[in-house]
Amino acid sequence: MRLPTVTLAAVSLGYGRGGAAPRRATAMTPTSDIKWLYLDVNSYFASVEQQMDPALRGRPVAVVPVMTDSTCAIAASYEAKAFGVKTGMPIWEVKKLCPDIRLVAARHDLYVRFHHRIVEEIEKHVPITKVYSIDEVACALIGSERIRDNALSLGRKIKRGLIEKAGTCLRCSVGLAPTRLLAKVACNFQKPDGLTAIELHDLPDKLLVLDLRDLSGIGANMERRLRRAGIDSIAALWVIAPKHARKIWGSVTGERFWYDLHGVDLPERDTVRRSIGHARVLAPDYRYPNQARLVARRLTMKAAESAAPTRISGGRSRLTGQAGKQLSVGWRIAPLPVPGYIYAAPRDRTALAASRRAAWGGAHQNSVGLATPFDADIGRRR
Ligand SMILES: [Mg+2]
Repeated sequence: MRLPTVTLAAVSLGYGRGGAAPRRATAMTPTSDIKWLYLDVNSYFASVEQQMDPALRGRPVAVVPVMTDSTCAIAASYEAKAFGVKTGMPIWEVKKLCPDIRLVAARHDLYVRFHHRIVEEIEKHVPITKVYSIDEVACALIGSERIRDNALSLGRKIKRGLIEKAGTCLRCSVGLAPTRLLAKVACNFQKPDGLTAIELHDLPDKLLVLDLRDLSGIGANMERRLRRAGIDSIAALWVIAPKHARKIWGSVTGERFWYDLHGVDLPERDTVRRSIGHARVLAPDYRYPNQARLVARRLTMKAAESAAPTRISGGRSRLTGQAGKQLSVGWRIAPLPVPGYIYAAPRDRTALAASRRAAWGGAHQNSVGLATPFDADIGRRR
């Protein structure tokens, strides 16, 4: 099926500044359409665990937040994925699909340490423009880096470097494309250990094998909205006008998405993140003060790590860390429809206060005895 490709013109949507300051090419070099390199470490948490423990290598492994069957897998090794295990799947289901799976409790401090090692290695080859998550980064390419063969060779060098410096289990996929969205799509084309380029002349053909949900930015809700608008495939999405996308999305994000998809590289908009939060529904086994306290401590450490100022080596690019002013720990007590358990939702403040004192030790009436640099304040939600 041949769909119309987009003729590129100078596009200026005037969304303001965004992203890192552009690097300048030092010489006039013939370039391809490739402007971005996107890297995603495969099965990150599970790969780090396999790197740390050789006994886990080559085996189906699932990383879990807590060791209980009522939780969900937050990562699965490639061997586990071969059994159909997916991130977010309840452990009872994981065990049905793969009875021999090894469950490993998540160690976020370890994953952060590996993240820094990975970032340091990538920055030896090309400056990172943006860290999207603990295992995903995007790098803007300039000058001769944009020549297809050079970009592919750069991708191979980074992949080799990561294996050498972070470990043989840390395999990654690299995508090269005119925009970040397309580079991420390219990255997902070949997993694990892929290296794929998408150029303008590949569009839209290369995308037509994908489902709408394969595109970053289209979740379950957006897919429903698109279907309501009569768009049930990438082919249908490709031919709509940018303004139509804006209407479906209900904001300028839709129009930006359209340009991103069609290979038009717009500067990313600045976003200010005002808070970082983590929450977890406690498994029945963890609904006791000491166990709950451990989970709260782990969530606090995770939030503190996410908020910690991070500098990328070499001073070529920098993530501005956020300094936390306040730490809120909240809990919600609600009856859940789990057979065999009876939950009493406290209806009065005194009972809640007593449960809080029992759970947190009550070193200070309004504080939690956790080792963090934050002022602590307990919030209550019901
Ligand atoms: Mg990943």
